[in-house]
Amino acid sequence: DGRTGQVTGAEALLRWQHPERGNISPVEFIPIAERFGLIGRLGQWVTDEACRQIKEWMGMGLRMRVAINISPYQMRQDDLVDRLTAALARHHLQPGRFTCEITESVAMEDTQVTQRSFERMRHAGLHVSIDDFGVGQASLSYLRRLPAAELKIDASFVQDLGHSADARSIVDAVVKLAHALGLRVVAEGVETERQRDQLVQLDCDELQGFLFAKPMSAAQLAAWAQLSAEPGPAQSAEFRASLFEDTQPV
Ligand code: MN
Repeated sequence: DGRTGQVTGAEALLRWQHPERGNISPVEFIPIAERFGLIGRLGQWVTDEACRQIKEWMGMGLRMRVAINISPYQMRQDDLVDRLTAALARHHLQPGRFTCEITESVAMEDTQVTQRSFERMRHAGLHVSIDDFGVGQASLSYLRRLPAAELKIDASFVQDLGHSADARSIVDAVVKLAHALGLRVVAEGVETERQRDQLVQLDCDELQGFLFAKPMSAAQLAAWAQLSAEPGPAQSAEFRASLFEDTQPV
């Protein structure tokens, strides 16, 4: 949270630790999964695993929103929202715990299937986040109609903040646009305190990046949360409830 500095959520990132080859980057295995028709099952696994993890964290007193990245393939699946709501129901979770990140380029695909997926997401009460915003071709009239709750400003603008007046103007404009449309703004790729200060000054709602935490396992995150909650009794080891929960009924 840009204002309070408290942790409000996490983004689920896919990693593959191969027993012999070590860490394999998603840049490498995602295209392969796509090519061999495994991306649908992989996406389903991520959804289930994220739900299971939210539930496990809740049991530890950790209340966080978790975002998953929806692939272009999933977005074109006719039964995407059925799959998502079924996974939530299986784990007895409210849709408000869950954010679906969809890249700007995919979100702006004005096809019937994508449109229908968005409509169904709205209906199901799922939070939609437009990922990597600013590098694609957003249609403002279309953006207005999307059931999105937040925009994630692409990391490239954040990286250029310190030395580019243009980047600063763009971030400023995106924040104002988002707020005018009733959307929250998340800045991705925050690495320095200077970037953080500038983003907070520009009224960015939430920040994400290496300055706060590098990607970590679910167990490491739980340990980190405990540590952040100190000093205090162990049962107060709670991150703040999601901002969405503070402002919207779930
Ligand atoms: Mn993302």
